[in-house]
Amino acid sequence: MTNRAFKTGESRDQANLLPPRIEDYVGPDNPVRAIESFVCALDLAKLGFRHADRGMEVGQPPYDPADLLKLYLYGYINQVRSSRRLEREACRNLELIWLLKNLKPGYRTIANFRKENWKALKAVNRGFVLLAREIGLVGGTLVAVDGALFHGDASKASIFTRRRLAEQIATLDKEIEAYGKSLDANDATEAGQRTDGQGDGGGGHGGDLGAKVTELMARRSRAQADLEGLESGDKRQLSLTDPDARLLSKGDQTVAGYNVQSVVDDKHKLIVASEVVNSSDAGHLHAMAKAAKEVLEAETLQVLADAGYYSSADLKACEDDGIVAYVPPSEGNGMLEKQGRFSLRDFSYDATADAYRCPAGELLRPTKKPFTNTSGRVEIRYLSRKAICDRCPLRARCLAPKAVQRSIGRWEHEDVIERHRARMQSADAGDLMRRRSGIVEHPFGTIKCRAGYRHFLVRGFNKVRGEWSLMALCYNFTRVLNILGLERFIACMAATLAFPLRALAAVVCCIQLVLDAFWTEIASPGSRLCTLPVG
Ligand code: SF4
Repeated sequence: MTNRAFKTGESRDQANLLPPRIEDYVGPDNPVRAIESFVCALDLAKLGFRHADRGMEVGQPPYDPADLLKLYLYGYINQVRSSRRLEREACRNLELIWLLKNLKPGYRTIANFRKENWKALKAVNRGFVLLAREIGLVGGTLVAVDGALFHGDASKASIFTRRRLAEQIATLDKEIEAYGKSLDANDATEAGQRTDGQGDGGGGHGGDLGAKVTELMARRSRAQADLEGLESGDKRQLSLTDPDARLLSKGDQTVAGYNVQSVVDDKHKLIVASEVVNSSDAGHLHAMAKAAKEVLEAETLQVLADAGYYSSADLKACEDDGIVAYVPPSEGNGMLEKQGRFSLRDFSYDATADAYRCPAGELLRPTKKPFTNTSGRVEIRYLSRKAICDRCPLRARCLAPKAVQRSIGRWEHEDVIERHRARMQSADAGDLMRRRSGIVEHPFGTIKCRAGYRHFLVRGFNKVRGEWSLMALCYNFTRVLNILGLERFIACMAATLAFPLRALAAVVCCIQLVLDAFWTEIASPGSRLCTLPVG
């Protein structure tokens, strides 16, 4: 029985609220110890962190990059990203006080670390993937690639396309014209008042209107210069706040920001390769798959992607590099089918005869000279015979009204497309494509929905890539920690300090065997360990 109405806290006058040792602030099973063990196992100088190889020098010593990396890892894992919030947490969060040994870096120091070390952060991210590979947490045979849009530190209004600039110039022209008319009317009124002897000669709004017109003219000149800059350069958009952010659309979503490309391994859904781009998914299949293949050191690699990645050039490059790609073929715009005419699908290629067979069963033969089409592909043209088409009953469904024969352009590497088409029609392809979203959506779902990271806090490719490296590293880190458990994770990190990565794999296997044997012994009914006296 209690004689108090509520639970009461400790008295603020009591001398020892916290344990006397900082070491006792966190328990032995606290995951923050995993961050400590991981960062301590890194060779920060080799990874390129600023100040990492600093010797004894005069003046105020900087913060150890290891401490700032621990702070960022802890922050990103616990949804604290801004440098000001990290500064506050370092002063009041017991886990951070333990991790940083009571160091309290200022927000500028914290922010500069993320800006200056973007390359090193990428290297740490890659190093962690290599570590996961060495300890057998990546399968290395099947990966899925996809892109996700993240907001940049820029608004949609700060990004201009050519069309928007042209519209802005047209609007400014109208405003200038309207103000010009007002100015003329004002001048006429003032002149009339002077003739009547009513005005004092200095009144009216002519001065205000003149200033407004000058301002509008200056805005128009700037917009015109921006438009000319876009038209003469290779950029399609102009971003005023973050020079590298772009207006990007996917489905019904449009963001002012970046497209994060990720390659995810099938075994434990770890991100094995990633890159931040500011364009659509198209054209990134081969680069991403190749990056993953290099990290995984795989002889061959199966890559799954959605239809947005379909590109004949990428399929060819993948095949050349031993990458087996599964991408739903692009359906095209189906213009001919909409018109009720035969499309390419209605013509079959006969490799023995090197000819296409049309729906009427006639052959389209190749012309001698290849040609380069509008997208730069070298193609061979196959033509039907005019005399046969003239009397063909299917002519109306096959030829354009003014055409005399049917022509089909065949890419010089069309066999790549045909092999891919056959692969996509195989029994495996359906099962693999069903697994694709489950593999690749896992990290994005976790990062965007659980951690709430939908935007970048920094600007420009370099810094954004550094921040993405932190997000990807924290995702992989948390996942590996959940898979291994704290004890085995710390054992792995301790082993990396003593052994190179390759030897680490053997050490981890030994640790796993010992731990498995231990738990088997514990679980068995007559276990000697179960009957050991406690204390
Ligand atoms: S029009 Fe010519 S190419 Fe077309 S189906 Fe008839 S024969 Fe074949």
